[in-house]
Amino acid sequence: MHELALTESLVEQVAEHTAGRRVSAVHLRVGLLSGVVPEAIEFCFDVAASGGPLEGATLVIERVPGRLGCRTCGLESAAADGLPVCPCGSADVEVVAGRELTLTRVEVLREPSCA
Ligand SMILES: [Zn+2]
Repeated sequence: MHELALTESLVEQVAEHTAGRRVSAVHLRVGLLSGVVPEAIEFCFDVAASGGPLEGATLVIERVPGRLGCRTCGLESAAADGLPVCPCGSADVEVVAGRELTLTRVEVLREPSCA
């Protein structure tokens, strides 16, 4: 995964969505099995956001733990680091959660009002 390119496209996507309004916060849901390193996105965000409507915005990342469903015994278990293997020893597992990379919320700064 190239986190900088990913973060840049994320920033573009948000900027497009908010039509040039100043963005105060971006909420992202990142699955820990998505192959994306949340810390790397955080690291790249300021660089990718600088000079645009997202400059200075806060990036809030919700980390979603990986869950595996076993096709052998039917057990659903938390994905530990490393190999996707069920506690029963079977490697015939499917990822049921943790592959997300979703933009969940964008907060836009309110324009000062005269009212
Ligand atoms: Zn199993």
